[in-house]
Amino acid sequence: MASMESLREKLGEVADLANAAALLQWDQETYMPPKGATARAYQLATLSSLAHRLFTSPDLGDMLHALRDRSDNLTPDEAKLVSEALYDYERAVRLPESFVHEFAQEQSRAYEAWVRARKESDWTQFEPHMEKLLDLLKRKADLMGYEGSPYNALLEDYERGMTAEQLQPLFADLAERQSDLVRRIVESGRQPDTAWLEGEWDEVAQWVFSVRVLKDMGYDFDAGRQDRSVHPFTTNFDIQDVRVTTRVSKDDLFSALSSSIHEGGHALYEQGFPLEDRRTPLAAAPSLGIHESQSRMWENLIGLSLPFWKRYTPVLREHFPERLDGVSPEAIYRAANRVEPSLIRVDADECTYNLHVVLRFELELDLIEGRLQVRDMPAAWNEKMQHYLGLTPPNDALGCLQDIHWSHGSMGYFPTYALGNLYSAQLFEQVLADVPDLWSRVEAGDFAPLLAWLRKHVHVHGRRKTAVQIVRDATGKAPSAQPYLDYLNRKYGALYDLTQ
Ligand code: ZN
Repeated sequence: MASMESLREKLGEVADLANAAALLQWDQETYMPPKGATARAYQLATLSSLAHRLFTSPDLGDMLHALRDRSDNLTPDEAKLVSEALYDYERAVRLPESFVHEFAQEQSRAYEAWVRARKESDWTQFEPHMEKLLDLLKRKADLMGYEGSPYNALLEDYERGMTAEQLQPLFADLAERQSDLVRRIVESGRQPDTAWLEGEWDEVAQWVFSVRVLKDMGYDFDAGRQDRSVHPFTTNFDIQDVRVTTRVSKDDLFSALSSSIHEGGHALYEQGFPLEDRRTPLAAAPSLGIHESQSRMWENLIGLSLPFWKRYTPVLREHFPERLDGVSPEAIYRAANRVEPSLIRVDADECTYNLHVVLRFELELDLIEGRLQVRDMPAAWNEKMQHYLGLTPPNDALGCLQDIHWSHGSMGYFPTYALGNLYSAQLFEQVLADVPDLWSRVEAGDFAPLLAWLRKHVHVHGRRKTAVQIVRDATGKAPSAQPYLDYLNRKYGALYDLTQ
């Protein structure tokens, strides 16, 4: 007889294995010596296949179906746990083990080819692997099932319930209006003075400053820690062990800080799941877009605001007394918000970032729906770069080979970055309505009201609500691009004096 207790025990075991694998992965990216890589690959493969086998076992399936059939006897929370676990289970069993194996093998080959191709800036070296991955992704879409575009089957992994048909008009409108704003900014010619930023910034001081800001945000260092890695990330092995990494560059005053705040936003979310959801699928975000809304709200709406810099300019000046003597909060605010079309997505500012995403989304959709051939990617990429950003990459490394995602066989991931921006602005509009003195609190370094709002409206729900439900319940409106566009126009209209 299936009971909630036995279900929780089974799901707990799966979570333990997955969390142990995550810990090994964290170690791989932070402290593992290079020669540990070979054995680590075996360890990770073993743990993940054990977790997968346990989770897709017919026993667990029977248990989930039995519990679902008598969900009238369950509390709403129990019924939700059953339906979410069943959703994951049904998706997991749709992919045969042989397919998963083939996909994983091609992923590692493709990744290696991508690293080489990018180094030599030559798409043709990656092309045969991209062909193979595309073929596998189409097969995956068929195995998973979909309505409308096959892209929807892939999108479901990252932004559940979202469809290409919804994204197309949303992104087309967003791109047109953001392109227009960027063009007006460039034409204004009013770029801020950033000469004072040049030169080296002590790495230890940057580190200490980033830890200070994380603490002020409310990140609990007794339930997490910060380390260095090449690519910043957040990971958790439990609600009370959520770790962040950052990247520190002596040439860039803002890189470590913005990475720390971004990952801190993700981490506050994961530290905010209810403890009773520990070791269950409910202790997770309903979508990557919602997860990203948290990191981007802290990184951009807070960390790139004038009140933030009024608070932290004196703190930063203590670390760099000579360099920052005479540099005002306004000067830092202007420099940190400099807008300039550029070739690389991860370096893009708030005004141009979504344009990079829309470009990738359109190319992915063309690939998966057969309108674009893999061999024509560089030309198609460059044409869109010219169209959206007015730039042409001088080579493939600075163009269609810049991102790691495709080499991992990830398609449908990019849209979640732009959705994160949109959700963040819509939620934040409501924060400002609900917490009228928010900016004076931020200027005093007091982030408690913001964190409390996010805990209540976003964090505690875990996967009990979908992304759309979270946004709708918190703001009273369906997700839309308008709040983000309003935010950009207001902020950058003032920064670049675009009033006329
Ligand atoms: Zn993120």
